[in-house]
Amino acid sequence: MMKTAWETLLSIGSEGGVLELKGRLTEDGWYFRRVVSDMEEGSRRFSAEGSDEDGLALLDDYAWLSLYPLYVDNKITTAVRKRVLFHRYRNESAFSAWIESTFPEDDWEAAKLVNWILTSGSTVVLTGAGMSTESSLPDFRSKEGWWKNIDPRTVASTEALSHHYDLFHSFYKARLDNLDQASPHNGHRALANWEKYGRIDAVATQNVDGLHQAAGSQTVYELHGSIRRFRCHQCGEELPRSTFIEKEACSCGGRIRPGVVLFGEMLPAEAWEPAMEKMERSDLSIVIGTSLEVYPANQLPAVTRGRTAYINKDIQTGAGDFDLVIRGNAGEVLTTMNTYMDEVLME
Ligand SMILES: [Zn+2]
Repeated sequence: MMKTAWETLLSIGSEGGVLELKGRLTEDGWYFRRVVSDMEEGSRRFSAEGSDEDGLALLDDYAWLSLYPLYVDNKITTAVRKRVLFHRYRNESAFSAWIESTFPEDDWEAAKLVNWILTSGSTVVLTGAGMSTESSLPDFRSKEGWWKNIDPRTVASTEALSHHYDLFHSFYKARLDNLDQASPHNGHRALANWEKYGRIDAVATQNVDGLHQAAGSQTVYELHGSIRRFRCHQCGEELPRSTFIEKEACSCGGRIRPGVVLFGEMLPAEAWEPAMEKMERSDLSIVIGTSLEVYPANQLPAVTRGRTAYINKDIQTGAGDFDLVIRGNAGEVLTTMNTYMDEVLME
């Protein structure tokens, strides 16, 4: 077999010159060469050669972190992406240049967030209603929400539980029926996947539907409780769902209720405290699908020492406090990110 001609696989702009990675196919596979051209001197020199899998080992961290790509050949894009996603950039414009030359334009922001996750020592995700609406659960606050004609405070409240139990019961029974038809979407599965890879530490959620756990997430802080658990409002005993559905009373005579936080109640400290502590100390916090009207999502940029990212369909007031904002449906953005995450983590 003949050797093919040298091809330029990657070209990087350096001060006063160009650094190129060239490759050619030989009988033993690809062979690579690093070529530095100095514009002023008009000289070219081969500074390194090798036959490792993609030739990229011929480039040092300086080239990756401080120089700018000029050309990336299709043959090498996936390998370059992998290096870009794992480098911890301090030079923002070099980072953007590498992202923009190796990812499709629609995915630039998502790719940046993948890089942040892969280079973060600790990452916490906070999800809100927008995560669940894509599993066809009505969102309580949006315009399409089924509560638009009812004030939630009158039904999902300790007041209703004590004084209008029939209304309280029919409301939660309807929500449970609704939930039975919902299943996790690819966004939920993406987060579970990243936890499995050891790339995120925990998911804190304002949702009570249990879809994160259903998707496989292990460490989930349910800030507003869970609609999948039931207990006696009086003595606190945990009881099976059927006792609530059938409107039974607890042996103590108390009313049975779902384990969600009702209007008029405190957030559960056992979920709230560790979640806040983790978010304050994490390198990266990602807020997904919340309107930023609800604490703590809106306060997060102020309390964390780490970087913050916000993914939501509508970009609202307060989004400007986040370091990175991605406009889009949670499921779609997370699925895109998951594709790149799999590309670099699955071997
Ligand atoms: Zn009881």
